[in-house]
Amino acid sequence: MDLLNTLVGKGLRRELPTRDEALAVLSTSDDDLLDVVAAAGKVRRHWFGRRVKLNYLVNLKSGLCPEDCSYCSQRLGSKAEILTYTWLKPDEAAAAAEAGVAGGAKRVCLVASGRGPTDRDVERVAGTIAAIKEANEDVEICACLGLLSDGQAARLREAGAYAYSHNLNTAEAVYADICTTHEFTDRVETVRRARTAGLSSCSGLIAGMGETDTDLVDVVFALRELDVDSVPVNFLIPFEGTPMAGRWALTPQRCLRILAMVRFVCPDVEVRLAGGREIHLRTLQPLALHIVNSIFLGDYLTSEGQAGKADLEMIADAGFEVEAPGTDTLPDHRRADQAAALDAAPDDARGPESGLRDEDGTRLARPARPDLVAVRRRGAGTDLPPNA
Ligand code: SF4
Repeated sequence: MDLLNTLVGKGLRRELPTRDEALAVLSTSDDDLLDVVAAAGKVRRHWFGRRVKLNYLVNLKSGLCPEDCSYCSQRLGSKAEILTYTWLKPDEAAAAAEAGVAGGAKRVCLVASGRGPTDRDVERVAGTIAAIKEANEDVEICACLGLLSDGQAARLREAGAYAYSHNLNTAEAVYADICTTHEFTDRVETVRRARTAGLSSCSGLIAGMGETDTDLVDVVFALRELDVDSVPVNFLIPFEGTPMAGRWALTPQRCLRILAMVRFVCPDVEVRLAGGREIHLRTLQPLALHIVNSIFLGDYLTSEGQAGKADLEMIADAGFEVEAPGTDTLPDHRRADQAAALDAAPDDARGPESGLRDEDGTRLARPARPDLVAVRRRGAGTDLPPNA
């Protein structure tokens, strides 16, 4: 297939595909699916070999957010019966992180609900980073605390954070459809602030929220333009009690096409298979490992993932290996680019709809599967052992 040969060549040269090429990946047929996965796999193996980086989520503060992101179980007015609690103490967070590190996680992601942190919150997180580093000096810490104000990214870096995560989630053109309390440009600004402060930038998307193929391509091109180091690809977890309950629009095949498109557009970055993989890819999860080079181990912020042990078995069975501590995730040139960006930093530092249509062009509704969504009831914020 000429398209796939072209995309592999561009991926190996870190050359940006055209938007039409990216859109064409999303329109490939099920008959071509394994060819698409194999082509994306060539690019993945060129830059990352057969390594899979494990990341572990610690929800520092759960629920009761004043923002109205319609996909989020922690949003204003959410009726989802999730765990709600305020900031974990540093030793509680460190104990939660320890479980992930013991399970093989190289990065711990410290996440808190809310629009963004106060300076006091940032100091609280700095104390948590210190507590985690005391036990595991080499673990990569990523903070994900919402929109950042002046100086906060620099303070987090000084405290030992390696990365900052803030997703763009969807295309700018449709951002107001999923959130009214902040704007797409606010999110872009926070990603830029993190990078300028010398933090590795992590930003991704959520698929399955009603976006078009063009929207998906737009958000991934926006991420490439921001030159982020890691791109988590989430598939909507349609929590009961949120405006997106009942929205089951994805198929395992579409999830794989989306991941492949992200790999072709962002060939040399850490593409992470993130929330929703178990419920949307289901038995095809191992195929996704041929495209992505990173996953979350165990549970998510407010929902359960498959058992951490099953994650490890899946990686081994598919012929991949967990990325070892001390291994550099990113190719050399990306680390050099990051160092150059830090040196240069100041001190203060809509188109055709998705393929889910029948022959007459009528949008297909897929059966809702709320039984697949399990609210997290263990780990951080509870007295029960975590899943790692
Ligand atoms: S995504 Fe973040 S900002 Fe938006 S409602 Fe959820 S916790 Fe709040």
